Amino acid sequence: MEDKFNSLNIFGPCSLESLEQITPVAAMLKRHGVKYIRTQLFKPRTNPDSFQGLGKDGIKILEVLRQTYGPEELKFVCEACSTEQLEVIAPWASVMQIGARNMQNFELLKAVGKHISETHDFVLLKRGFANTVEEWLESARYLVQGGVPKSKIVLCERGTRSLTSPTGVQLDFIAAMEAKKSGFKVIIDPSHGAKRSEFVIPLAKASLQLGLDGVMIECHPRPSESVSDAKQAITIESAEDFIKSSLK
Ligand code: PEP
Ligand code: MN
Repeated sequence: MEDKFNSLNIFGPCSLESLEQITPVAAMLKRHGVKYIRTQLFKPRTNPDSFQGLGKDGIKILEVLRQTYGPEELKFVCEACSTEQLEVIAPWASVMQIGARNMQNFELLKAVGKHISETHDFVLLKRGFANTVEEWLESARYLVQGGVPKSKIVLCERGTRSLTSPTGVQLDFIAAMEAKKSGFKVIIDPSHGAKRSEFVIPLAKASLQLGLDGVMIECHPRPSESVSDAKQAITIESAEDFIKSSLK
């Protein structure tokens, strides 16, 4: 377990789009021994006309990845927005993600414990963009009461709405550091916390400097073509440089 928690770093696209998209990300992570890859099948989108994720169709891509990389080599991080989606992702995901919009979806939080098994490394609970640290920790308690072992909960700070930041979001390191006092591991998502690619790596480096437990970074083989969150996606090369310079 300790080994897993020494490397709580996650990379990959905002949404799983195609085998062609995810293959170079997986290959880069494998070269550096990074295990966690974002393979998001379901996307909670503000605009109902935006791409909603490949859904169950994306499993075909996960099957191909699984033929190439063993379950200990490459571990899938998937978000569920409903109990139905939990059922779909549970057999595939090593990390079940509860996103910012669902931090207080209490029925979903209660259901996670029914799906968790030995195959899951942890549940990633993101802070809602208008929620306090106290509310975040209460949501973590829902997971625990539903049957998720405390040791399998990792918190993720992804920034709050801002009236003043030029990108409309501000990453709250103080909230992350405060949450860490609870004993949970806390990682930072500098991608949603920045909303612009140029700020992602500086914020990721700051997170590590502050002693936080890892980062989750969105990267894409062709960032400008990303079907979701294109402005905050960094290149695979930038992600690789960061891994080489900061995670080794
Ligand atoms: C994500 O990480 O894929 C995501 C949707 O982020 P958030 O829930 O923080 O908006
Ligand atoms: Mn995204």
